Amino acid sequence: MTTRTPLMAGNWKMNLDWKQSLSLVEELGEALREVDTTVVEAAVLPPFVNIRTVQTAVEAGDLPISYGAQDISAHESGAYTGEISGSMLTALGCTYVAVGHSERREYHCEGEVETNAKVKAALSVGLSPILCVGEPLEERKAGKQVEYSLAQLEGGIEGLSAEDVAKVVVAYEPVWAIGTGEVATPDDAQEVCAAIRDLVRTKHGDATADALRVLYGGSVKSSNVAELMTKEDVDGALVGGASLKAEEFAKIVGYQD
Ligand code: PGA
Repeated sequence: MTTRTPLMAGNWKMNLDWKQSLSLVEELGEALREVDTTVVEAAVLPPFVNIRTVQTAVEAGDLPISYGAQDISAHESGAYTGEISGSMLTALGCTYVAVGHSERREYHCEGEVETNAKVKAALSVGLSPILCVGEPLEERKAGKQVEYSLAQLEGGIEGLSAEDVAKVVVAYEPVWAIGTGEVATPDDAQEVCAAIRDLVRTKHGDATADALRVLYGGSVKSSNVAELMTKEDVDGALVGGASLKAEEFAKIVGYQD
């Protein structure tokens, strides 16, 4: 029996100005009235400049929405122009931060060392990193999806204690499924999500593996989420495009209803 609370996290990417973010989070709060948020957690990851707006709306409306950022600096503070530190995020009430998203890896050349440093920076201030892993199309065609994703996972959690690993959320996001409308089959998602949990079990023991939340991401919608969630090792979803519409995202959060 799993006691893991499912997590549905909306990655807004580089979308919405602060006014649009305000409307979306308020509409989402309204739509979530229909959903039992004691059994599933809803989170949003707005662009940095909109986090304060989301914080204000969540606090004012006492909305059942956690929130966080899409990236974090590996450094604590100081002369790092353009960077945002973990303590700045916790000061805004953030719970989560995405680390190692494939768009960061691809467009910002973030590799294992930087990803690992960001995971550690997040944990050091009490943020839960949502560590993203997943294979590009060529690797899947070659049948190397498990190997590839596990190598990214190992790099990301290198040097962490079991206690810290249990605070990490891992998101399996096959690159070919992100923003393409081509969702992985539930069995494909389960294969890699199970392998992720197995690796954590081998390295850090049963308690850590059983506590670890493993999400699937890549073209998740209200029409396909319930089927994905039937899989034992899929504990939620990281949602891009479909998280930008309040009704649609609320349906994803309420997949059980
Ligand atoms: P998508 O994005 O849901 O639009 O495919 C997922 C993600 O990149 O986290």
